Amino acid sequence: MSNSNIPVHESTQREDSSSSPCSFSVEQGLELLRISGARLTSQRIAMLELFAHHSSHLTAQQVFEFLTENEPTLSRATVYNNLDLFEKFDILARYQSDNGDVYYDANTHPHHHMICTGCGTLHDVLIPQAAMDALLNSSVLCSPDGAHASTPLSAASIWFKGVCQGCQ
Ligand SMILES: [Zn+2]
Ligand SMILES: [Zn+2]
Repeated sequence: MSNSNIPVHESTQREDSSSSPCSFSVEQGLELLRISGARLTSQRIAMLELFAHHSSHLTAQQVFEFLTENEPTLSRATVYNNLDLFEKFDILARYQSDNGDVYYDANTHPHHHMICTGCGTLHDVLIPQAAMDALLNSSVLCSPDGAHASTPLSAASIWFKGVCQGCQ
């Protein structure tokens, strides 16, 4: 599995004990926008609502298509700039899957993903910390000559395949 270009949000996780690690609300996003000093434009609020109520994983193209349903004159550049801004302020995380698709993710806590082989939707996967530690500590690097090197690994973002409940 080639995960070298997937960001791992080790140092940027938010302290938010009031909600589950998987949840995202418009209010959380608004608060982060206020803290960052960014203006609360109608497009930014519409983006927060999209991620909170429609889907937590969307490509830039999907965000553009959803927003232009209500606002046909919206430019692609505005949407993409706002996605960059949301990523910069840790409102959204950016993940690249194994097949190269880039997703914006409302869950900015460190987590992993499953791609449903039936419908193609992305699902967040939580792995207990003890299991992750065991995985990182027991993994070895492979080299072309077949030797295995034991190197400390510090973080991982894993893409699983599986079948979601709706497709079972
Ligand atoms: Zn499915
Ligand atoms: Zn996710």
